[in-house]
Amino acid sequence: VSDAPVRYTVRMADPHAHLFEVCIDIPAPAPEGACLRLPAWIPGSYMVRDFARHVISLQATSLPADLPAPAPETGDGHADEDSWSRHGTPVAVRKTDKSTWQCAPCAGPLRVRLEVYAFDLSVRGAWLDQSRGYFNGVCLFPAVRGCESAAAQVGLVRPEGQAGLGWQVATSMRAQDVDSGGFGTYTADDYQDLIDHPVEMSDVDVEPFEVAGVAHRLVLTGRQRYDVDRLTQDLQAVCREHHGMLPAPDDLDRYVFLVHVADRMGGGLEHRWSNSCIVARDMLPRAGMAADDRRYARLLALLSHEYFHLWHVKRTQPAAFQPFDLGAEQYTQTLWVFEGITSYYDTLALVRAGVISEATYLELLAERIGAVSAHTRPPAPEHCREQFRRMDQAVQA
Ligand SMILES: [Zn+2]
Repeated sequence: VSDAPVRYTVRMADPHAHLFEVCIDIPAPAPEGACLRLPAWIPGSYMVRDFARHVISLQATSLPADLPAPAPETGDGHADEDSWSRHGTPVAVRKTDKSTWQCAPCAGPLRVRLEVYAFDLSVRGAWLDQSRGYFNGVCLFPAVRGCESAAAQVGLVRPEGQAGLGWQVATSMRAQDVDSGGFGTYTADDYQDLIDHPVEMSDVDVEPFEVAGVAHRLVLTGRQRYDVDRLTQDLQAVCREHHGMLPAPDDLDRYVFLVHVADRMGGGLEHRWSNSCIVARDMLPRAGMAADDRRYARLLALLSHEYFHLWHVKRTQPAAFQPFDLGAEQYTQTLWVFEGITSYYDTLALVRAGVISEATYLELLAERIGAVSAHTRPPAPEHCREQFRRMDQAVQA
């Protein structure tokens, strides 16, 4: 039995067809055959998405047990292709439900190759074209049953051709052996960690700044003109404001804002060491913009919101989600606690940090009250009042 970790190698195989290729090397498949499963939903966005529907092909190959296992792929990723193509034998794969693949038993190391269609411009999905590659692990990395709590490796292969020359990798995943652009090998502690670091690969703008002694990076894609200094300074002030209220978690040794600029806003998603947001072009600060621009205030509120989640939800986790069952719906009535409290502080931090005026704060608050009351029937549902009573008792106890 090999102690070598499962390794997921990602290639931007066909940007025109929006296809990622993922090779999963499993050094010691289970005796009953390796079983692989993609999550149905992604933590932080609590709807079933069935990411497996974007897998358009999946094949498995094994090597004879008496052949030394090939070295992990490095660099261009083709180093050990020979061994696999010469000695590998196909392994039968059976789909047992919409997200699960069961491979037949085999003696030696197993390689599973999948093609994933990546044309979902959202913070939950995966995207690949000639201008950028972006993915969440839930889209590309099936969990290997029995290996969920073991460390895993990720290989990111630099795309061939002109486009890939200036590209850089931006992610909070822990780098192990990478080139100057960040392509190479990354590591994850376990499966939960593996899917908690969205990855951006493109021509990115990176603005470093520091908060509470922790290195932060603001990464923007979809280049345009904007007042980069103002955005970086305001964001730093907002992060400082949160740190003034909450102690920095011991394991917070880095933080990355991944911001993709598009035609319209596409929301945000929190992670432990990063967040991923899609914002509209006209939300960015421009030189000569009014001090109290409402659209820019909404951009700051979004970034502030996802940042606050690094404490609330990512580290103070709802009991309902312990442990996560990523295969099916997990029902909870406490979403208002994770999202409501976060929403309260996202905007409050802006006025406290002095990056918006009190008048703008009240306007944003009014907007939000309007939006919430449009979707709920007053008074608050009984379960909310009951939860609130219990929280109130717990606080007073
Ligand atoms: Zn949220």
